[in-house]
Amino acid sequence: MKKSFIEVPKNHPFPLYNLPYGVFEYRNRVAIGVAIGDWVLDLTAMESKGLLPENLIGKKVFNQNSLNAFMATGKECWKKTREFIQNMLDSENSSLRDNQELRAEILIPQKEVIVKMPVRARGYTDFYSSIEHATNLGKMFRDPANPLLPNWRHLPIGYDGRASAIVVSGTKIRRPKGQVKIGAADPIYTETKQFDTEIELGFIIGTGNQLGSPIDIKSVLDHIFGAVILLDWSARDIQRYEYVPLGPFLGKNFGTTISPWVVTMDALQPFSVDGPQQTPEPLPYLQRKTSNFDIEISLAIKTEKMSDYQEIANTNYKHMYWDISQQVTHHASNGCNLESGDILGTGTISGPTPSSYGSMVELNWNSTIPIKLNSGEERFYLADYDSMKAVAVAKKDDLCIGFGQAETTVLPAI
Ligand code: CA
Repeated sequence: MKKSFIEVPKNHPFPLYNLPYGVFEYRNRVAIGVAIGDWVLDLTAMESKGLLPENLIGKKVFNQNSLNAFMATGKECWKKTREFIQNMLDSENSSLRDNQELRAEILIPQKEVIVKMPVRARGYTDFYSSIEHATNLGKMFRDPANPLLPNWRHLPIGYDGRASAIVVSGTKIRRPKGQVKIGAADPIYTETKQFDTEIELGFIIGTGNQLGSPIDIKSVLDHIFGAVILLDWSARDIQRYEYVPLGPFLGKNFGTTISPWVVTMDALQPFSVDGPQQTPEPLPYLQRKTSNFDIEISLAIKTEKMSDYQEIANTNYKHMYWDISQQVTHHASNGCNLESGDILGTGTISGPTPSSYGSMVELNWNSTIPIKLNSGEERFYLADYDSMKAVAVAKKDDLCIGFGQAETTVLPAI
């Protein structure tokens, strides 16, 4: 396997093979880069120095504060750019390797940059596509004998979320207030007592479709640029009262956290695996032409009393019933136009065992099983100043790539 001249320890999330894209601030300048080991290759600086071949992209796309212009160039361009960067960082290639002056100009230590939102998202849709998650919630809140609603196996259920409230890892999230109904009394406006999160991936649209023109499932992967970890913050008590009949609203749209480095679909390709059998067979426009991906995701908590994170769930995207190609195809099947930068949440990724449940409401089984922590504390839901961190990794044979992390701390309500 090819290696970079930049030292990348074994099992590091960002080897030469990965090359995720992100936006960062360094010395009061915002730029676009790719992560390689503990470094960032500054593509904005490379472009302004004329170090990217003119025919690579055909126009300037990196002097920007988001990846949108680059993503809009399309799949062939993403591929060529990836190959060019991989070649430039290859240990066999001396052009950058032996040019210390240039290395000092375009390679920046990752610990010295501030990560920013990688994309400008005008649209955010969140799905509900894990059969384990939907079954668990159906058992807890509806009918244990028939936990899935009749439509669930026929289409990927989703709702339109709030793009403006998506923030990058490290941004603190404030406990929301809202209408909560306790017992038979009238609802009150109060801070949530059931502050939860859901582990998801967020797939990012690279090139969209025209309003009125659906996307054929055969070509759907051409439209998807890459993926990030996504934490869908959820106030369960607010959600429970408001969601009838139109679905989630203020119980969800006060914040969503994503990881800063966008892992490309090209990098994910070796980790593709078959998804679960779908019964009944979906309608023809939704029949799978692609696959799931084997991506392990762990969720960990750290309270104020704890010095280290403690894992509370470990799940895998490969369990997802409806895959990203089906979600995108379904989303555009009525002619709805997806745009470059739109983020599609996969839905909570729960696995088959209790330790793989992807939300606290499942881990605590609707407040009946406390989550026990090494500090001796217990949690049903998040307390103020608790921190949460999700990490995602894909492994196959000797190849290991990671997404980095999505992390935040809960601030008290105002
Ligand atoms: Ca969700």
